[in-house]
Amino acid sequence: MGSPWSELLANVAVVAMFVSVWIHTHVWLDRRAAVTRATAFGLLMGMGAVIVMMTPMKLQPGILIDLRSTMIVLGGFFGGPVAGILAGLSAVAYRLHEGGIGAFAGAVGIGIATTIGIVGHLALKGRAPERLDILNLAAAAGAGSLLGLLALPRDVMQAVLPRVALPSPLLIFLSIMLAGLTLYQERRRIEALQSRRIYKAVVEALPDCLNVKDLEGRFIAANPATAELMRARDAKALIGRTDFDFYPRAIASKFRQDELSILKAGVPSTIEQRLEHEGGGSGWLATLKAPLTDRAGNIIGLITHNRDITARRQLEAELAESRIRLTEALTHMADGLVMFDAEGKLTLCNDQYRHMFPRTADLRVPGADYRDILRQSVERGEENVPAEEVEAWIDRIVGSRTTASNLEIRLTDGRWLDIRTRPTADGGSLSVLSDITAAKKVQEELLAANAALNLLAHSDGLTGLLTRRAFDEALAREFLRSQRSGKPLALLLIDVDWFKRFNDHYGHPEGDECLRAVSRCIQATARRPADAAARYGGEEFAVILPETDARGAFVIAENLRRKVHELGLPHGGSEKGIVTVSIGAATFDPGAATIEIADLLRRADEALYGAKAAGRDRVHGWRPYGVPRQTPATPPKRQGK
Ligand code: GH3
Ligand code: MG
Ligand code: MG
Repeated sequence: MGSPWSELLANVAVVAMFVSVWIHTHVWLDRRAAVTRATAFGLLMGMGAVIVMMTPMKLQPGILIDLRSTMIVLGGFFGGPVAGILAGLSAVAYRLHEGGIGAFAGAVGIGIATTIGIVGHLALKGRAPERLDILNLAAAAGAGSLLGLLALPRDVMQAVLPRVALPSPLLIFLSIMLAGLTLYQERRRIEALQSRRIYKAVVEALPDCLNVKDLEGRFIAANPATAELMRARDAKALIGRTDFDFYPRAIASKFRQDELSILKAGVPSTIEQRLEHEGGGSGWLATLKAPLTDRAGNIIGLITHNRDITARRQLEAELAESRIRLTEALTHMADGLVMFDAEGKLTLCNDQYRHMFPRTADLRVPGADYRDILRQSVERGEENVPAEEVEAWIDRIVGSRTTASNLEIRLTDGRWLDIRTRPTADGGSLSVLSDITAAKKVQEELLAANAALNLLAHSDGLTGLLTRRAFDEALAREFLRSQRSGKPLALLLIDVDWFKRFNDHYGHPEGDECLRAVSRCIQATARRPADAAARYGGEEFAVILPETDARGAFVIAENLRRKVHELGLPHGGSEKGIVTVSIGAATFDPGAATIEIADLLRRADEALYGAKAAGRDRVHGWRPYGVPRQTPATPPKRQGK
């Protein structure tokens, strides 16, 4: 029986060997399912446990002290439940096969080790073990190994315990620490390897140039994109060379100068630079240069990240050029132009547009809100909108931008603007504004001239009443209307009494003056908009009174007669001593009888004849033949007909 130390130390060697076997072989299993790897690891650790049990320290027949716990705990802790149970089962099977009085205690010890390994694994909750976790595991396993000894028969335990109480847990602790840390390092190595592989793949695939140079400007790492940019054969061809090997001296010196200043400043910086190749051609690069430091913080090189921005630069240049062209066009066009975006913010306008609205020119700038502009335009008295209608007016204008429209507006200063608005693809609008004040003025003058001409054609030169022709048209119109509506229509014929004598007595010009005076009376009498008064003949007048029955016509006629009478114009040729008129009235009642326009005219004429005959200065309404009149008529005496 040797010293427990030396025999257990031999066990440590076995543990180390198995861990080493795993480290050198597990790579083969990398691509297998996790459970396959766990099974392999568990079986390996189980095999290790069996081997250490083959070279135990035999304290007495049937009592084997060894480092099996180390293997089993490692199996469960690093491999998970499957591995732990496989390792434990292998060990239990062997221990029971060996038998002896310690067999039961051995099985209990193996159970404890299996439990510690698996519980330790589960306690990690999926994260990778750290050094402290391994320390805790080793301590727990060391303590746990003593528990297993307690399961020995009492007398055996009392004999065994003093000899193994120290070496066994201590060596289990140490071996777990040793093997655990080795496995831990292996995991770290694999992780580092993987992340390096990922970085390498990313850097290789990166379309941007990425490279590292040492303090002397020599490439120490570069990706294929860098080689392409430098027109080098491949990335390897760059290593150990400098920019001077690839660029003209002047450019390379400039690059070197930039790099030196960054190395000096010690902070990253981005620059955009133009690049001319030796073989011709040029481009633009955006370059980020950052100092590379070692762990101690010393600058040991320079990381360069280049991006080819030739295309972007080209686009920018084209954009700038088209902006200039657009501005030129906007400046030199005669019209005002304004664009609003979907939110109603002004995005673009020219000076002409601003000049069209001098009072709000300061507000009509990019970024301004259309609603604010309109509100201010009213507030500053540029556009005339009643205060209570302003918001509705703004809503209408802003809302109508989504459909094409042509609009003419009049500003308070009298100017007219023509506004053509079209929606744009982005939901905004574009409006072209023209000052049409001059055209409007011409148009208005033309309209006024037309109206005047029209009036002239339809009005009598002496009295301003309708002409005979206009009267005929009006009568035809009103006659039709009356037929349609069923409402009566009255017609008055007015003749100045003894007018031939007036002329003879006072002269023709005075006669004209008299006719004007009478026509003024007529105008003052037939005042409803639909009433139409005309100079029917020399000194005869006619009045159309729509929607007027016989009684109404008589009242109006009587009014007119009195008005003329009350003028009191002296008439030396009349027995009345003043100018008077006689009036004949006739009515068309669509409900009563069907007559023609000519009938109506004839009846009015007959009535006038009657008034003359009855002594003049009176009104006669037409009566069917034989219907007696209230006032007896004087014998007819119409002259000059
Ligand atoms: P009576 O009361 O029967 O109507 O008598 P009268 O003299 O008015 O008769 P009549 O209607 O036949 O006379 C018409 C006259 O009116 C003839 C003409 O001298 C005059 N007259 C017609 N047109 C004009 C005109 O435009 N200006 C002037 N000053 N006189 C006119
Ligand atoms: Mg007459
Ligand atoms: Mg007359």
